[in-house]
Amino acid sequence: MIDLSELRAAARAEVHVSRRLFLAYGAALSSLPLLGSRAEASTRRIAFANNPFSLGVASGDPTDSGVVLWTRLAPKPLDPDGGMPAEAVEISWEVANDDGMKQIIKTGKAVATPQLGHSVRVEVEGLKPDRWYWYRFNVGDATSPVGRTRTFPALDIMPEKLRFAFASCSHWEQGFFTAYQHMAKEELDVAIHLGDYIYEYAGRENLVRKHAGPKLRTLGDYRIRHAQYKTDPHLQAAHSRCPWVVTWDDHEFENNYANNIPEHAGVDPVEFLEQRANAYQAYYESMPLRPNSLPHGPNMKLYRTLPFGRLATFQVLDTRQYRSDQPNNDHASELNEAALNPKNTLLGEKQANWLKSALLTSTGHWNVLAQQVMMGMVGYVRPDGKPPLYSMDQWPGYAAERMKLAQFIADRRVPNPVVLTGDIHSNWVNDLRVDDRKPETPVVATEFVGTSITSGGNGTPVVLGLERLLAANPGVKFHNRQRGYVTCTVTPKSWTSDYRVVENVTKADEPVKALKSFIVESGKPGAHAV
Ligand code: FE
Ligand code: CA
Repeated sequence: MIDLSELRAAARAEVHVSRRLFLAYGAALSSLPLLGSRAEASTRRIAFANNPFSLGVASGDPTDSGVVLWTRLAPKPLDPDGGMPAEAVEISWEVANDDGMKQIIKTGKAVATPQLGHSVRVEVEGLKPDRWYWYRFNVGDATSPVGRTRTFPALDIMPEKLRFAFASCSHWEQGFFTAYQHMAKEELDVAIHLGDYIYEYAGRENLVRKHAGPKLRTLGDYRIRHAQYKTDPHLQAAHSRCPWVVTWDDHEFENNYANNIPEHAGVDPVEFLEQRANAYQAYYESMPLRPNSLPHGPNMKLYRTLPFGRLATFQVLDTRQYRSDQPNNDHASELNEAALNPKNTLLGEKQANWLKSALLTSTGHWNVLAQQVMMGMVGYVRPDGKPPLYSMDQWPGYAAERMKLAQFIADRRVPNPVVLTGDIHSNWVNDLRVDDRKPETPVVATEFVGTSITSGGNGTPVVLGLERLLAANPGVKFHNRQRGYVTCTVTPKSWTSDYRVVENVTKADEPVKALKSFIVESGKPGAHAV
């Protein structure tokens, strides 16, 4: 056993955690055992006082031959241990060809360990491509709800159509998950979550609902928060209807963090790293991710590639874990020397290199970056005529890397690049250029930014100063600040994004409205209103 306390003391002695200590401490944390072995699993038939499937079921990361099935046993979801005994529990799973679970085609056993919060993930293999399947779990005397999932088309096939939705920023306290309720009723091949799946803040009074517990810090805190969100029936329904592909943004850990750097100074660096390990582990436990995302202490690999036949290839990015600190103290700023510093990175060197080779080897007709922060270099005009201000937490704070990536996409003729974005609780459609400040240059990619599920409350259909914003930013084709999600219909000929809004999220069961649609023609980057 590595002496954690010694390393902890050494790391704490430094004002900033040095790279060396960061790695050493991270490695030490990562040596803590997470995986239980099958041998120690209890096979006794547990009689549960409460439903152990209170968090529902989910599936994710489909390939053309398999998919991940997920659940987490939590008879008492708001207890740190979920109300489970401190022992490994054997659970069985079934996959069927029909929603009645009559034609079972695969079964197996898995072990839910206390180390991983009694979460269960099963990598089902040997399925047929481009097919819908149904699944459920059994433990003791309890049976889970039936979930529906699917495989993606074979890699050498050009599918006629892909239909998916993307969403982000679901704040429990600021509204009902009505947008998820409607998403669950859309017939989607896959749903994509771009982060801020939970929020880390302490419970507050007089909002729509209340977070359980304090501001998140411990593993138990993060587990309870994820569990509370997962008790929402609309979120459960959305998960149970199709596979999800998820990535995180900042609030799964803490607002506007950059790698191991907190938003505000004065935080104990060692505690911050331990908190990150807790946050990442709870996220892993709560999501239908592949086991190769298993966290190692404060490190967890989330970036990955998912091809939907030859029609579309998704590159899922992580722009939080490896980024350099936001320049200009993370205040909105002119694109000054600090913002344009070529050393600034959102991706980190390893992920940036991976992304380049993933784009070069992609066989996708549409090449999708599923990521967090806005890539459009949107400048906010100032009334005094001074140069516009840009968000330093978004790609403009990392403008050199941003322009290099756009230049790479253009130079290497990556087919039909489309960027999907969350984070800022508002809808945007952006034509992306290598440098968005030069509207006379060619458009190289298209960006669809989706609004929040609830974050920010109801928002507004009227954006003050919108005309001035659009006039100053010719790349911006659309901007709106209501709640909702975006559905996308992709064919070999075109990409259509439909912006869906829920006008009132403070009242349950409100309707969804089709606000606006945009189309991208294959071979012609840039969006046009339908
Ligand atoms: Fe958010
Ligand atoms: Ca965010």
